[in-house]
Amino acid sequence: MFASLCTSNALFLDFDGTLVDFADRPEAVVVPSHLPTLLSELFTALNGAVALVSGRSIDSVDALLDLPLIPIAGGHGAEWRFNGTTQSVELSSSDFSNAVVLMAAFAASHDLLFENKSHSFALHFRQHPQLKTKVDQFLAEQIESLPDIRVIYGNCVREVQPRGMDKGKAVARFMQLPPFTGRRPIYIGDDTTDEDAFQWVNANHGWSVKVGGGMTAAQHRLNTVADVGQYLKDFLAELGNQPRG
Ligand SMILES: [Mg+2]
Repeated sequence: MFASLCTSNALFLDFDGTLVDFADRPEAVVVPSHLPTLLSELFTALNGAVALVSGRSIDSVDALLDLPLIPIAGGHGAEWRFNGTTQSVELSSSDFSNAVVLMAAFAASHDLLFENKSHSFALHFRQHPQLKTKVDQFLAEQIESLPDIRVIYGNCVREVQPRGMDKGKAVARFMQLPPFTGRRPIYIGDDTTDEDAFQWVNANHGWSVKVGGGMTAAQHRLNTVADVGQYLKDFLAELGNQPRG
């Protein structure tokens, strides 16, 4: 698909919509049977330079994909686990508290799923897509004006969290640590929240890969979750033909 992959790459992977297809509810996604082994083998082949970068909490990913050795950033970069140690940023903001109260009330009055993701709150409308305009109107009128709040526009979900963290910053943090340091980063993701990471890797001699359609800063594109799986298998096969770096 693009220039040759090698053992001097670092691989960053979003989870939902990239490694697994979406489901009606976040906990209902189905992890492809080949995925844990594939990720473990990539982790070994790249000498540990593989990380997951998700909007889910780390606990939520762990419940679906039991790979505690693989570095992970959760909550759009608000928490991260590396070498078995988990750290997170402090979420203390009156604007955040106010936003959560307002969104919870909106969710209750419109029968929408409102999810506490530990480091963000998410309003899901996948089961009520006709409410998208109403949700966005509510956010524009009551939430976007709160100074310390970041509204994240995802695929059939809107999240709020305090400003100051994003997936680009999560990638940058990993890239300061061995074995990531000095490698060429590859980031694969499907959603608007991945755009911060795309921009970071573009500016740091990496390769950005968008899954699916839509406007993007990414340099390359894969169409489906299945295509990502095949791409990673091809990547692993290519690594197997190269000397370890
Ligand atoms: Mg995603």
